[in-house]
Parts: sequence; structure tokens; C-alpha cells
Amino acid sequence: MEDILRAGLAELGLTADEGQIGALVRYGERLMEVNRITNLTAIRDEADAARLHFLDSAALLTLADFSGKSVVDVGSGAGFPGVPLRVLGQDVELTVIDSVGKKVDFVRDSCRAVGLEDVTCIWGRAEEMSQLRERFDVAVSRAVAELDMLAELCLPLVKVGGLFLAMKKPDCDEEAARGEFAVKALGGRIRQIRRYAVPGTDTVHAVVMIEKVRPTPGQYPRRWAQISKKPLRG
Ligand code: SAM
Repeated sequence: MEDILRAGLAELGLTADEGQIGALVRYGERLMEVNRITNLTAIRDEADAARLHFLDSAALLTLADFSGKSVVDVGSGAGFPGVPLRVLGQDVELTVIDSVGKKVDFVRDSCRAVGLEDVTCIWGRAEEMSQLRERFDVAVSRAVAELDMLAELCLPLVKVGGLFLAMKKPDCDEEAARGEFAVKALGGRIRQIRRYAVPGTDTVHAVVMIEKVRPTPGQYPRRWAQISKKPLRG
């Protein structure tokens, strides 16, 4: 894992010191270990985890400035992309939210185990976090929902002037076009879609980069039953 991370981070143009590499490796080893008994991720091979979890997450650092930013990872699962952003970014203040308790427990315990005491781990549904409304500079999310629904989970949490980065498959143009109405209704504007190669793989991923340009109207987010039954579409 260590060699793959070093080579991949160099390929992304990112630097990491011994402490940062060590934290990622220990987190990854713990993930593989716990995943043998509790299903946290479909990726069971250490090398694949290094590339498809850690390097894929780290690639976000090449697309936006996270320095000193408060970041919320919505539907973080076993900690991706949030935890690598916290380890590799400069002074990133990370909050992870997930609706599955065992995943939140894993992230909390693992962050402590690798010395990341300051990560806030919240068990719950993102659309029910009214106490966190417009609190974050950046929201990130990978593999949680289609953009029209995901925007309603994430954009309410972002400050005006902040960013929402939705990690997607490379063929996400139609999904982004379908999501444009929701993004606008929630106070956002799609700035661009950026694509990148995940180091050491043939995989290309995309990030839909959304700016928060206005406050989210008070009627959003709705309950999940409504969001999923009637996504905001024009
Ligand atoms: N982001 C991680 C990754 O890419 O490895 C996990 C992706 S997993 C496919 C989707 C995660 O989103 C699950 O852990 C699920 O519990 C969480 N999730 C789905 N809807 C959610 C919601 N409304 N609020 C918080 N978490 C949610």
C-alpha cells in the first residue's frame, strides 16, 4: 500500500510526509482488517483500496483549494473521500456524516487510532442536519445518490460562496444536466465538470463542481421520502 500511495500521490503532483503516509497506511490496514468481519466496502484488496479509495479521494486536492477549509463528507461510508482529504490537506477541518452507525463508528475509531482526534463523526441523515445548515466551506460526496437528489442533501450544508464537489462516473453529463434544475433551486450553480485519471488504474472519474451562490430556500431539504419520490426536476 505504501509504495502505491507514494507513487500515486507523486503522479497527482501531491506531496506527503512520512507522518501522512503512515496515517493513510494504518487507516487502510485497519479498513482491510475490520472489513473481513464487518462489511464496510466492496473493495477487499489492499492495492485496490490504495488506488480506488485513497488516491481517488486525494485527487480532489488537485481540483480545489481545501487549505484551512471546513469540509463535510456526506455519506462518507468508511471515510471516503473525507479522511484522505483531512490527512493530506492543509488544516482541513473535517466532518463526516453517514446514516449507517457501524460505518460512523469505524471512521471515528480509525481516525483516533491514526491520531486524527479532531474529525467530527456524525451518525444520521444529511437532510436532517438542520443544526449544520450553511456551516461548511466545502461539501464532498462520492457514490451516494443521483445529483438531483444529492444536491438536496449537500447544498443546504454549504455556506454561500462555498463549493459542493460531487464525485461521479466519467459519463455524468446527462446526470449533471438532469441535476441542474435542483442545483439552481437549492442556491447552487454548476461551474464545471472536471475529469481525472486515478493513478495506477485505467479508471477515469469526474467531479461536478458546484458553487453555492445564494442561500438555500427554507423549504429545503425535504424529508428523504419526498426527495426520492419527487426529485427537484424542471
Ligand atoms: N462515500 C463512500 C465511498 O465512496 O466509499 C461511501 C459510499 S456508499 C455507496 C453510500 C453511503 O451513503 C452509505 O454509507 C450510506 O449509508 C450513505 N448515505 C446514503 N444516504 C444518506 C443520507 N441521506 N445521509 C447520510 N448518509 C447517507
